[in-house]
Amino acid sequence: MGRVLIIGCGGVASVAIQKCCQNSAVFEEIMIASRTKEKCDALREKLEGRTDTKITTARIDADDKDAVAALIQQYKPDLVMNIALPYQDLTIMEACLACGVNYMDTANYEPEDTSDPAWRAVYDRRCREEGFSAYFDYSWQWAYRKKFEEAGITALLGSGFDPGVTQAYCAYALKHVFDEIETIDILDCNGGDHGYAFATNFNPEINLREVSAPGSYWENGHWVEVPAMSIRRTYDFDQVGRKDMYLLHHEEIESLAKNIPGVKRIRFFMTFGQSYLDHMRCLEDVGMLSTTPILYEGKEIVPIQFLKALLPDPASLGPRTKGKTNIGCIFTGKKDGKQKTYYLYNVCDHQACYKEVGSQAISYTTGVPAMIGAMMLLTGKWNKPGVYTVEEFDPDPYMEALNRWGLPWQESDKPVLVE
Ligand code: NDP
Repeated sequence: MGRVLIIGCGGVASVAIQKCCQNSAVFEEIMIASRTKEKCDALREKLEGRTDTKITTARIDADDKDAVAALIQQYKPDLVMNIALPYQDLTIMEACLACGVNYMDTANYEPEDTSDPAWRAVYDRRCREEGFSAYFDYSWQWAYRKKFEEAGITALLGSGFDPGVTQAYCAYALKHVFDEIETIDILDCNGGDHGYAFATNFNPEINLREVSAPGSYWENGHWVEVPAMSIRRTYDFDQVGRKDMYLLHHEEIESLAKNIPGVKRIRFFMTFGQSYLDHMRCLEDVGMLSTTPILYEGKEIVPIQFLKALLPDPASLGPRTKGKTNIGCIFTGKKDGKQKTYYLYNVCDHQACYKEVGSQAISYTTGVPAMIGAMMLLTGKWNKPGVYTVEEFDPDPYMEALNRWGLPWQESDKPVLVE
């Protein structure tokens, strides 16, 4: 049915690629293109003979929009899946626009160099006007809406688990369960243990930037920002047990606040163990999480990038990680004039993921929805020109695909609510 250019070949991409190859009727041909071509070739070798999908590979620097456009012209895909890093979102979107090809990704744009004065000017204004200070936000990608509409192509933003599946859950709850949603609590629990004192489950640089930033939530039409890790709750997660979780800023809050009519409060919580928090605080205190380059023995280095080189590669955690993830949304609202609560969630087992695709559950729970988002666009089930997030499409085919492709959802009408 389709031909897809997949950019990136890290932890998440390697799951998405394997899931595309399980779904050859839709993904007839794929090109895996990344900065390190050897990784693409190694994955192709692993998959060849086990899939009907025809796989080619290429080297690409996705920071170079002309190079991406040239690769698109050469390969002529129906869709580009960006599973590199958020730093490349805008260059790849530009290249898709220049070539008239659909686009999708798993995380919204943030700049690699947060000291860039041109970016800072826009960022400082946004902090003042919007009231949250995370480095990432949707405004950069939403700015392409009109151009994508006029070109008759679609950009699907953030089709991972969170963002991604969590927004499909919200659209599903609004379509089938509630007349009006009042509050949404997104709970992301990783009950897995990899045995290291400190490691991150996806790209360390992106992960540490996210969790060390101030937390924020949406309430009564505006953002409330609080110091990092200052709001803690304990929750008893199905199949995982009791865990401490902390309020974080998260990108889907921004789009859900616009797209769920009348919603009064949206919060996001993620579980962290004490060892992770102690290490992170210490690294932050000594300046290791900084994104500003420093001169070390005559060479410029970015502290957080140096730290990344020291930490275990998230892709190597697969064989070591045991336990389960539980990610979902708790809703309150009204149905037929009555107050109602509802919980939609997925439980995913790290070792089962490793057995299937050689990865831990964080890469799996992101890579599977990336494949499903691409499938929605390729099959025309989601088809409207412009730039959209997941909750702006019909959730039904996506929710059906989650059950079929490895992330079945569970529901409860009587969840314990978060204080
Ligand atoms: P990794 O660091 O494991 O992989 C990133 C890949 O992108 C690597 O193959 C890397 O190449 C490649 N890459 C980086 N820069 C470039 C470039 N300039 N040109 C071409 N290729 C490049 O990251 P993850 O797989 O952990 O994360 C991938 C994405 O998924 C990120 O955007 C992350 O934020 C997102 N994510 C989303 C989640 C969700 O639920 N929505 C959850 C987790 C992650 P090389 O091998 O040379 O380093």
